[in-house]
Amino acid sequence: MNLVDYFADKISPAGVAKLYQLSPQWAITKLREHRFRQVVQYVGRHSEFYRTAFRQRGIDPRMVRTPADLGDFYTTPDDIVANPKAFICQTPNIVFESSGTSGKNKQIYYSQRELRQIGQIDAAGLQLMGMESTDRVANGFDFSMWIPGMLVHNALMAANTFCMAFGKVDPLEVYRRLKQYQFNVIMGEPTWLIRLTELAEEHGSVPLKLLIGGAEEMPREAIGWMNRVWQGAKVRMCYGSVELGGGLGYQPCDQPDVYHVDDTDFYPEIIEPDGDGLGELVFTTLRRTVMPLLRYRTRDVTRLIPEPCPCGLRGMRMARLRGRRDELIVASGGNLYPLMFENILRPIPELTHDWQVQFKLEALREIMEMHVECAGIDESALQREIQQQIRLQYPDLMKNLDIGIFDMRIVVHPPGFLRSDRKLKRMVDHRYEQDNAATGPQSAAAGSKEAAHVG
Ligand SMILES: [Zn+2]
Repeated sequence: MNLVDYFADKISPAGVAKLYQLSPQWAITKLREHRFRQVVQYVGRHSEFYRTAFRQRGIDPRMVRTPADLGDFYTTPDDIVANPKAFICQTPNIVFESSGTSGKNKQIYYSQRELRQIGQIDAAGLQLMGMESTDRVANGFDFSMWIPGMLVHNALMAANTFCMAFGKVDPLEVYRRLKQYQFNVIMGEPTWLIRLTELAEEHGSVPLKLLIGGAEEMPREAIGWMNRVWQGAKVRMCYGSVELGGGLGYQPCDQPDVYHVDDTDFYPEIIEPDGDGLGELVFTTLRRTVMPLLRYRTRDVTRLIPEPCPCGLRGMRMARLRGRRDELIVASGGNLYPLMFENILRPIPELTHDWQVQFKLEALREIMEMHVECAGIDESALQREIQQQIRLQYPDLMKNLDIGIFDMRIVVHPPGFLRSDRKLKRMVDHRYEQDNAATGPQSAAAGSKEAAHVG
């Protein structure tokens, strides 16, 4: 550990936030570049994957000054799925999993020290978003294998707030305890927060200070409605992922379409940008020691905004996400990919091999519409059979349906109806189409983002 990181570890989250607010732009840039050079040399020494890749490509880590010096070398999700152990540089204490489109999960390892550090950084992010140690927080993020809940919990401990670690329970459980524990900040996935807000609209609300979402994008129309229902609560989002280990993007100011980026702990880049600057987000972790990732391809499409923010906070900003480069869609409170639906529908002999799942918003409610083909079947029996398969194979998805954060609809067509083309698009996301129309062209299929979390 170098001296800068040694002292960085000792500062309180409030100190980290203050330091970031006060640092001049040149210092932020210098720190990011210094850390980048160090991490390249570090993985060159300790990670079998990067050592091999550098050797094959004739890269001398000591000569690398900026990401551009690595040419077209990137780390892909498939690299991690193929051999996660080859990335590990130090003995880990914990593993998280994040789903990949192949149906195989990515393993991401961390040490106890890294988790503490992530907690401290994320707490600083929450501080910049307006959270104070006197706040009372309901943490409704999932405590599961892809574990945003626990990372958020670490951040709340580091921020020294009072909290309850609900996990992704039925929003009704949180609603019932609002007054009892006097929560004024609620954190969870947007679809879950929307369900909770529906309950409050119907049965009465309390004044809240903040609603913080992550893991999916928040529909724009939801923000004003939530603000109204919760009597003035600010609605803010974070962008993170299991691979990032913490939040990369925060919303400290009133701009729902923009994230401020933590560009001293991560080095973000956009690759293959289109005319509007939209391209795939790639990041390098700058302080990881167990499993650092160099130029990791997130598959998320966005753009970086170099101009300074009117709020005065320095550093890079990033636009609201525009979709995914692959067929993974974050919807219905989880990461969904075509293979899942293949597995759900295959055991039902009456169906043809063609199907398509569409995601929509009706008012603010998320609808998962499964279009299938069949020559004649009792539709209620089909509905029961599909639900049974989901319950058996994907209990997390069923749980999200049970707790009411999305609705499922099954639409039956005659055989041959769905395929007009050789390649049938299996998953179609209509949820943010209006958003996209309002903000310009998109460069990839609409959708949202990966197993992300907040911090
Ligand atoms: Zn700002």
